[in-house]
Amino acid sequence: MDCIFCKITSGQIPTNFVAVSEHAVAFNDISPRQPVHVLVVPKQHFNDVADLNNSSPEILADLMALAMKVAGDTSEGSFRLTFNTGKEAGQSVFHAHAHVTSVQPR
Ligand code: 5GP
Ligand code: ZN
Repeated sequence: MDCIFCKITSGQIPTNFVAVSEHAVAFNDISPRQPVHVLVVPKQHFNDVADLNNSSPEILADLMALAMKVAGDTSEGSFRLTFNTGKEAGQSVFHAHAHVTSVQPR
């Protein structure tokens, strides 16, 4: 499958991971919209967070724990955790991912 986030999570496209867990990786967004803008992405392909929730609550829980760690490590405690789901909601990469954004870098 021609999926940019599968290529990143598998290492096919070399990427600096800011954090890693059993089932997910975190890396900086290529086009940051906030001073902190990290993507948290499951290693396995799911089309969006609804697909991830239906298919594997265990992987979703692991991803959420990693997102919370990233938020704590990169921000002063005020942050947003966003899953754009569907084209009309702004999803542009159809491999599930959370955005951790903050205007208060640590
Ligand atoms: P979405 O619009 O699907 O919620 O978010 C996709 C995000 O992925 C966007 O914020 C976009 O900047 C980011 N992105 C797209 N391609 C790449 C890439 O190759 N590397 C990185 N680090 N981020 C990417
Ligand atoms: Zn993928």
